[in-house]
Amino acid sequence: MKKRMLCALLAAVLCALSGCKKQRSLREFTTFAMDTAINFTFYCEDGNRTGQAYTVMAYGLSDLDSLLSVTREDSDIARANRAGGQPVEAADWTALALSQALELCEVTDGALDITAYPAVKAWGFTQEEHRVPSPAELEALAAKIDYSAVKLEGNTITLPEGVEIDLGAVAKGFAGDWLAQQVRNIYPGKDSALLDLGQSTIVAVGSKPGGKPWRIGVVDPARPENYFAVVELEDMAMGTSGGYQRYFEEDGVTYWHILDPDTAAPARSGLASVTVVAPSALTCDGLSTALFVMGLEEGTAFWRDHPELEFEAIFMTEDGEIYRTAGLADNFSLAEGYEDREVTVLE
Ligand code: AMP
Ligand code: MG
Repeated sequence: MKKRMLCALLAAVLCALSGCKKQRSLREFTTFAMDTAINFTFYCEDGNRTGQAYTVMAYGLSDLDSLLSVTREDSDIARANRAGGQPVEAADWTALALSQALELCEVTDGALDITAYPAVKAWGFTQEEHRVPSPAELEALAAKIDYSAVKLEGNTITLPEGVEIDLGAVAKGFAGDWLAQQVRNIYPGKDSALLDLGQSTIVAVGSKPGGKPWRIGVVDPARPENYFAVVELEDMAMGTSGGYQRYFEEDGVTYWHILDPDTAAPARSGLASVTVVAPSALTCDGLSTALFVMGLEEGTAFWRDHPELEFEAIFMTEDGEIYRTAGLADNFSLAEGYEDREVTVLE
């Protein structure tokens, strides 16, 4: 009898160690890529598979980062930027990310423009050595911002002299979609995960155990330590762009990292942040940046005109007014402490 109990105990321990428990267990991992701490939370049926998936995902992210990072000298993007008008052969992954980014530049009519990079550098956001360029310098920089000058033929990238690209506004979204696909491949329909790539991209795969959605806070740009709203996500991504995320101050003026391609200066559309909720993380990342540039009125018109992009949005103005699109009726609520704030629903 004692022997049998011992065997059962041993089996239970081995089972727990090998992750063969039937009920789903929680596992959390953190890795660092794209200048961000990236957190994965898995609810999995098989702990071993999750460990393997994490390894594949972390290595994949690192590869993607070394292809797309504008500041890594040997990345495909940096090589294209240095090529002085000559064609550069890129990896399949780079070509795919670039073609998806260019599609978003086009659909947003250049509110998102990956050729804003020389202007981003001029403001010192790349190296965190901030400065305010002169009006003449900004005029010259703005004249060079034009995504339609980027040539992508197969895997060959050609940039005219003086044009440089940066996928910073969309890379985390692109990575988020790839990561979500990896989770779905591990154990289709059974595992669920929350992939947190920093504020610009959060992806929910499935729901939490018990079928409950993930609840994600939306940062109050006026008090970034607080959340003003909560969004419930299930098989859905979310991304936020805001002036509070990266900025500097000079002579009492705040200058942030999201630039208006028309002026090469920080976009002052009256918005403090934009959150986009959509099935695609790339859409969330790219459109949150673009809608921030467009502003409330133009952004709302864009939402009405583009149902095919399947996105919803939350706008917070610099005056603290909150707007949300109608499609968020079931998964948006005000956070604790903000319950008495008015929310205008955009139809
Ligand atoms: P995000 O944080 O996703 O909104 O992206 C902002 C980053 O993209 C900035 O730090 C810049 O590197 C770059 N960027 C700034 N303005 C634009 C723009 N209008 N279109 C594309 N990229 C931009
Ligand atoms: Mg973005």
